[in-house]
Amino acid sequence: MASVEIRNIQKNFGPVSVIQGVSFDIEDGEFVTLVGPSGCGKSTLLRMIAGLENISGGELRIGPRVVNDVPPKERDIAMVFQNYALYPHMTVADNMGFSLKLKGASKAEIKQRVDRAADILGLTKLLDRFPRQLSGGQRQRVAMGRAIVRDPQVFLFDEPLSNLDAKLRVAMRTEIKALHQRLKTTTIYVTHDQIEAMTMADKIVVMHDGVVEQIGAPLELYDRPANLFVAGFIGSPA
Ligand code: ADP
Ligand code: MG
Repeated sequence: MASVEIRNIQKNFGPVSVIQGVSFDIEDGEFVTLVGPSGCGKSTLLRMIAGLENISGGELRIGPRVVNDVPPKERDIAMVFQNYALYPHMTVADNMGFSLKLKGASKAEIKQRVDRAADILGLTKLLDRFPRQLSGGQRQRVAMGRAIVRDPQVFLFDEPLSNLDAKLRVAMRTEIKALHQRLKTTTIYVTHDQIEAMTMADKIVVMHDGVVEQIGAPLELYDRPANLFVAGFIGSPA
């Protein structure tokens, strides 16, 4: 686990500024949701934290270390994407162990880590199946398993439930929270769904057009929104 400090982070794509000086802290073990309308810069910010996108300005710290120029592989972060593309020709176990294999881990270590993650996620009986033999929720669990096996300091989720139907989304967010209770891994969870953001977070960061509008505990935002944007966004149905 590690804390994350985001200090005046900026991002330009050519002449276009899409993130204009965003700052907030995530404490060690905290579950932060990053919420805002489509196009406000959530994925870009997450990709910068993961090291998949370079940082145009500002400073990013993970634990004690400034990581602006640290390559993704050395950041000890695992990201779960919206489109959790599993390798169709690989079993669940192989999908989950693949990143460890790339890192050169031994077969025994891969098996041990995959078995542990499978146990945590209730996937033990499905390890020999192929993705096409799984339900949407099971595939999402495998995608989380791929992240867990790496035992990262920080989890990044980018709208991981948006491809699931409403009922499954509710079930999965309970599961993700239970997972966090168990592992206590520092988590940044991006969503455009206000209900998801409110129910899952220790702390919410509300973004709009590349800036942070407000940061606070869910009830704080609900009771004392900083401005009309936050009031409208938090108050409106998903
Ligand atoms: P969100 O995840 O909140 O929907 P994004 O971070 O994906 O928003 O995008 C923020 C803005 O940056 C959008 O206007 C988007 O079009 C722009 N953007 C994202 N990636 C690129 C890119 N690679 N090149 C140019 N513009 C981009
Ligand atoms: Mg996005």
